[in-house]
Amino acid sequence: MLTQIKGLHHVTSMAADAQENNDFFTKTLGLRRVKKTVNFDAPDVYHLYYGDEVGNAGSVMTYFPFANMGKGGRGAGEVSETVFSVPKGTLGFWQERLSKQGVKELGSYSLFGEDRLRFAGPDGDGFALAEVDGDSRVPFAGGPVGVSEGVHGFRGVTMRLRDEGATGELLKFMGYQPVDKQGDFVRYAVTGGNGADYIDLEVLPGASHAQQGAGSVHHVAFAVEDRAAQLEVRKALLDTGYQVTPVIDRDYFWAIYFRTPGGVLFEIATNEPGFNRDEDTAHLGEALKLPTRYQQYRSQIEAHLTPIKD
Ligand code: ZN
Repeated sequence: MLTQIKGLHHVTSMAADAQENNDFFTKTLGLRRVKKTVNFDAPDVYHLYYGDEVGNAGSVMTYFPFANMGKGGRGAGEVSETVFSVPKGTLGFWQERLSKQGVKELGSYSLFGEDRLRFAGPDGDGFALAEVDGDSRVPFAGGPVGVSEGVHGFRGVTMRLRDEGATGELLKFMGYQPVDKQGDFVRYAVTGGNGADYIDLEVLPGASHAQQGAGSVHHVAFAVEDRAAQLEVRKALLDTGYQVTPVIDRDYFWAIYFRTPGGVLFEIATNEPGFNRDEDTAHLGEALKLPTRYQQYRSQIEAHLTPIKD
């Protein structure tokens, strides 16, 4: 069993409109945009990162806004819900705030003893807030939501699968343990994590497969401290028979990717070097940053991107 994985690093999804996406995460949820850059494979598409003040691993929601992309279809083989941690006793505040701002699909529920508020992102993205007692991660203080109500970071994600078996085995190999069960849901947890410590599997044998589109999670990334730990994880996965990509430099972390048996794309990302690698913490996310290979094309790239109004 691996011991290098310390919870989630980031969750990456797709959206249809950059401005709408930016406003939802910064103005409605009160996260900080910690990076404004472009897709490494398609520099005419933004890559937007939202999180806590410095974009700590376990807090970072990232998006590729593909203009006019059709909505995804929910189903099996995907992350069905991304769950954020908020302070105990704040769901009433959030219910009122999200309702006033026209957020759709609001609904209260309880899972594994946590009070939760479900809501949809701009493209029907599946989200929830979970009340967590004693989450020591500090919410972003510079946004429209106060620290006493703000988002600490991720609690975890729910993956909807047709079958638990192989994915459960993989999670155990990655250092997670099954800790609870409720109805169709099984909860896996990692110890010694960064706070984003839970993977809930919703097992629906008859569910049809999800279709990726706007509002779908593209992949979920797990955190390791550094490149040495990442290489250990990569070797262990390869030895177990997984097809893993080489290490890829993503400017703010190093990444490896592999497809899991249940269909979800996993990434292992390093905590180093972080989002303040190329801009001061005070000004994170303000300027358009470009990967090195695209810097000579800045004027053409900027001409193709619609500026985002803050
Ligand atoms: Zn990623």
